[in-house]
Amino acid sequence: MSDPAISLENVNLSLGSGEARTHILKDICLDVAKGETLALLGPSGSGKSTLLMTMAGLEAADSGTVHVAGRRIDTTGEDELARFRGGHIGVVFQAFHLIQTLTALENVAIPLELAGAPDAFPRASRMLAQVGLAAREKHYPSQMSGGEQQRVALARALVANPSILVADEPTGNLDQGVGAEIMELIFALNRAKGATLVLVTHDEALARRCHRIVRLRNGRIESDSAAVAERENVGV
Ligand code: ADP
Ligand code: MG
Repeated sequence: MSDPAISLENVNLSLGSGEARTHILKDICLDVAKGETLALLGPSGSGKSTLLMTMAGLEAADSGTVHVAGRRIDTTGEDELARFRGGHIGVVFQAFHLIQTLTALENVAIPLELAGAPDAFPRASRMLAQVGLAAREKHYPSQMSGGEQQRVALARALVANPSILVADEPTGNLDQGVGAEIMELIFALNRAKGATLVLVTHDEALARRCHRIVRLRNGRIESDSAAVAERENVGV
């Protein structure tokens, strides 16, 4: 694959300390192409969230290499990594993770303000309108429904035009109908921006809407639909 959006080579990662230290990710090799949508499936505890956070530079591998948008991030210092993340990677979590003391608009403006953008608020305002929340700018998270909060979180993730969006069970805390709306929005905005999407989900039907499905089991890649397609193409 030429110039992938994300490239992990032989990544191993352990979490916890002392007796509780656990080897979570085991020899992960994975390239995600630019513009690809990839669904990450696997049983609870198989390492999906940890793998996603490693791709986003929010967990550090013990060994192996991690490249994102052409940049090696596993050896990048924390301040520079934070800056890099802000401009290249958007993250959406199951539990929204909005700052409760800030309005919707302020939450969305954060990544731009951190990047020193002079037009943070007008841009945040336009992004909120794109997720259908123009009327909610001054609302605090506690004054919004779960679906609205996730829209704000999505706007925050995309406001800096990252080339990569990672989403960890973004509909896990939402009713089915609201979750489906959020997923439509994620797919539509991702397509409009030509971004790469890595989506952790339990939903097989949702996963099938992605270009590619990777299954994790016990910290290892158990199957990868791209590898299967490649074998079929060469007639093995
Ligand atoms: P998934 O998202 O697939 O449910 P996770 O990546 O959250 O899986 O977790 C993978 C494994 O790592 C689980 O077995 C979990 O218990 C373990 N784990 C997560 N965080 C820690 C930690 N801080 N210390 C030790 N083990 C952890
Ligand atoms: Mg998880």
